Amino acid sequence: MKKFFLLFLFIILSFNFCFGDLEIKGKKIPGSALFISKEGREEEEAKFEFNHKIYNLIFNKNIFQTLVPLPLELKPGKYTLSLIYQDKKTNYLILIAKAPYMTQYLSLPKTQTAKYDYPGVEKEYRLIDKAFAEFSIERFWEGNFIFPCKRNITTSFGLRRFINGEEAGFHRGIDLAADYGEPVYASNSGIVSLKEENFTLHGKTLIINHGQGVSSIYLHLSKIKVKLGQMVKKGEIIAYAGATGVATGPHLHFGMYVQGIAVNPNIFLKLPDGFK
Ligand SMILES: [Zn+2]
Repeated sequence: MKKFFLLFLFIILSFNFCFGDLEIKGKKIPGSALFISKEGREEEEAKFEFNHKIYNLIFNKNIFQTLVPLPLELKPGKYTLSLIYQDKKTNYLILIAKAPYMTQYLSLPKTQTAKYDYPGVEKEYRLIDKAFAEFSIERFWEGNFIFPCKRNITTSFGLRRFINGEEAGFHRGIDLAADYGEPVYASNSGIVSLKEENFTLHGKTLIINHGQGVSSIYLHLSKIKVKLGQMVKKGEIIAYAGATGVATGPHLHFGMYVQGIAVNPNIFLKLPDGFK
């Protein structure tokens, strides 16, 4: 019993958690991701279940790995992360701390807010979700990710937004300062899984699939340089910044997603060992 209590404390207080052949890295806050490694053999199957979603472990070189995103909507508290391995289910307690994000109050002219109610908006989200759902076993990313514009962050990740006094959800990416027409670089290598020139809300949009459930998204572009299905290299110019869609001026909205769930892009700039 005492041993269990100590283990319980260890899970809560530790940034990285080790249990036998299982290693869990990453901050336990909404908008973060757990980077999980587990020893095993390639012919075996293993998966995790978290918050009603399944995350299959993928065999990378000599170890099973997966990323489990922690949605921005998670309330602080206790959650169960279940490992399903060799017909056995093992539960781990994950304590999610309070989100450290601020609230932002914006006022936008009616010409901009009207775009939220535009009849094609649902289709925009559907196409974006479809691209995020593309899953490849292969890992295309190489090393840490980079910011796609070499400029300052103007709006950070995770802000809870009120637009003209009405709650408008979370800011699910990072806004980077950019002049109109400034180059946008691929944050890492991958395959272009969405190229849209005519989105009313998101503006000209690109999504890159980096493999193993990880995607990056680039919004409000003025011009797109790459083709759908094209393999791009980290640091390659893929587009030019703009102010298409709902934008108060030229900037780049950059988002990172794990199996369709937004996570803080900053995490990907310094990946844990074994995930680079
Ligand atoms: Zn943004």
